Amino acid sequence: AQERYASIRDKPAETKCGRIISLQMNAGLMADLPSLEGSGAEGVGLFRTELQFLVRNQMPRRTELAALYARVLDAAHGRRVVFRTLDIGSDKVLPYMKPHDEPNPALGWRAIRVGLDKPGVMRMQLQALIRAAAGRPLAVMFPFIAQFEEFRAARAEVDKALERERILGHVLPEKLEVGAMLETPSLAFAPKKFFEEVEFLSIGGNDLKQFFFAADRENERVRRRYDTLNVSFLTFLEGIVERCAETDTALSFCGEDAGRPVEALCFAAIGLKTLSMRPASIGPVKSLLRRCNLDDVRAVIHDAREQGEMSVRGAVMDYVRQQHQ
Ligand code: PEP
Ligand code: MG
Repeated sequence: AQERYASIRDKPAETKCGRIISLQMNAGLMADLPSLEGSGAEGVGLFRTELQFLVRNQMPRRTELAALYARVLDAAHGRRVVFRTLDIGSDKVLPYMKPHDEPNPALGWRAIRVGLDKPGVMRMQLQALIRAAAGRPLAVMFPFIAQFEEFRAARAEVDKALERERILGHVLPEKLEVGAMLETPSLAFAPKKFFEEVEFLSIGGNDLKQFFFAADRENERVRRRYDTLNVSFLTFLEGIVERCAETDTALSFCGEDAGRPVEALCFAAIGLKTLSMRPASIGPVKSLLRRCNLDDVRAVIHDAREQGEMSVRGAVMDYVRQQHQ
C-alpha cells in the first residue's frame, strides 16, 4: 500500500484550494522509527511513551529511557517529535504496578492523574527527555488534562525538572514546548487563560469521543454506535478550533480518526491544520486531501447540517465520489 502512494510521498498535503495540512505520524516503539522516512510524515505528532513501559516486565531506568528518547530524536533528524508523558491506567495497565480495582477505569485513576499524585515516574521521564534532547528542541505533552489546574501543576513539574538539570550541569533544550491533550469535554470549556498558557493542544479523539457520547471505546457493543461525523461531535470540534483560533493556540488531532480519509477531510474542512495518524494512513489521507477543495467540503457540511442530517458522512462521501470521476 505504501508503494501506491510513493509518488506523493514527498509532496505536501495541499488541497485544491491551496491549503496545506501538516500530516504527522503516531509512534511509540523503536520499530516505528523507520516509518518516519517511509511514510512522508512531517514529524511525530504523538509519541506514546507508555508503549515502552508496557512491553517490559519491570520499570525502565532513567538512563535507558534517555537513550531510547535520544534514538527517537536522532531518527527524526530535526523534525518535531511530541513526547506524551506516561498515559497508563484504564486500558493500559503496567504489569509491574499494583493494579487498582476500579469500577470505571476509563473514568478512574489514569494518565496525568497518576502522574500528579505519584510524580516519581513522570519526573524520571521528564529528566530522561531533557537529557535525550541534549540541547535540541523538545516538545512534551500531558495526557488526559481535564482542567486548567492539572496543566499548571504538570507544567510546574517541567520547570522543576529543568531547574534540577541545570543545577546538575546538563545542557537544556534550545526550546521546550509544553502542551496538553484535549480528550475530556471539560477542557474545551476551560478559561481563556488556559488556551493562552498552553503552547499547543492535541485532540485525543479516541478518548474525547468516548466521553462525548458516553460510549466506552473498549466495548464492542457501543463503540461504533456513534459516528465521528455526527453533527453534534463535529460542532463540538468546531468550537475547539474556534477557541484555539481566538488565542492563536496550535491545535492538532491525533486520535485514530485522523487516519481515516473522510474524517481527516472533514477535520481539515472545519479548520484543523495538523493531523497525526498511524504511518500507513498518511498516503491515503494525503491522496484524498490533494483531490479536494475544503471550501466545497465546508459548504457540503453546512448544507447537511441545515437539512437536519444526523451525520455529514453521506453528503461528504457523495462529494468525495465526485472527485474521483
Ligand atoms: C486518544 O485518546 O485519541 C489518543 C490519541 O490517546 P490514546 O489512544 O493513546 O488514548
Ligand atoms: Mg487518549
